[in-house]
Amino acid sequence: MTVVNIIEEAETLNAKLATLSLAERLSFVAGLGVRVVFTTSLGIEDQVITAEIGNHRLPIDVVTLQTGRLFPETLALIAETESQYDIHITRYEPEQADIDAYAAKYGMNGFYESIEARHACCGVRKLKPLARALAGATIWITGLRRGQSANRAETPFAEYDAERHLLKMNPLADWDIDTIKSYVADNSVPVNPLHARGYPSIGCEPCTRAIKPGEPERAGRWWWEQDEKRECGLHVAEEATAVAAQ
Ligand code: SF4
Repeated sequence: MTVVNIIEEAETLNAKLATLSLAERLSFVAGLGVRVVFTTSLGIEDQVITAEIGNHRLPIDVVTLQTGRLFPETLALIAETESQYDIHITRYEPEQADIDAYAAKYGMNGFYESIEARHACCGVRKLKPLARALAGATIWITGLRRGQSANRAETPFAEYDAERHLLKMNPLADWDIDTIKSYVADNSVPVNPLHARGYPSIGCEPCTRAIKPGEPERAGRWWWEQDEKRECGLHVAEEATAVAAQ
């Protein structure tokens, strides 16, 4: 599939996916005959997608970035999810040599000191493993929702990821958090117990705090930084590459 094909596919797919249910969205891309990868952080949105993939036995590779700094609750949920849905979640980990080089330059927790140091850590622990996870994939599925933050308010169902040269699909783009919670309750989906302790968005343990009442869902991520658009780099290209925001 060429870049032009992918861009055209994104435009077409974006319009088509808007008319489908979540199960239909996932089934449709799973039936395209290309490698489809779903990256899960084990957050509540991602658990909904995993439940659909597992329950419908869809041929979609489920992977997670095991950064080495995750909460124990998240690690336990990976195993619980695999067991409940009889699936395998492939862990992609950082290279030890990269971690050592980072620690030598910035210190193991150097990410608190500067944006540059934080991006470097996310680069080593997330972006490089993500590149390996997506190697050979044509479609990348994420759990992005428009309601998660102002930065994600225009999230389309499908977009061309120019940096990774693939088609990124966001099948929960139009779901709100109440719909997510209802799905989880109705379908006994296992979720991270941290959500009930004030963590709507969960990443690495040293970079995530509980939010206060009234704060945006992602306010607890890299809370010490002032940039309202702070992200880890996985999804920063979304605005530039969105081909047909809904
Ligand atoms: S979220 Fe924090 S610990 Fe995790 S990779 Fe990024 S900077 Fe490093």
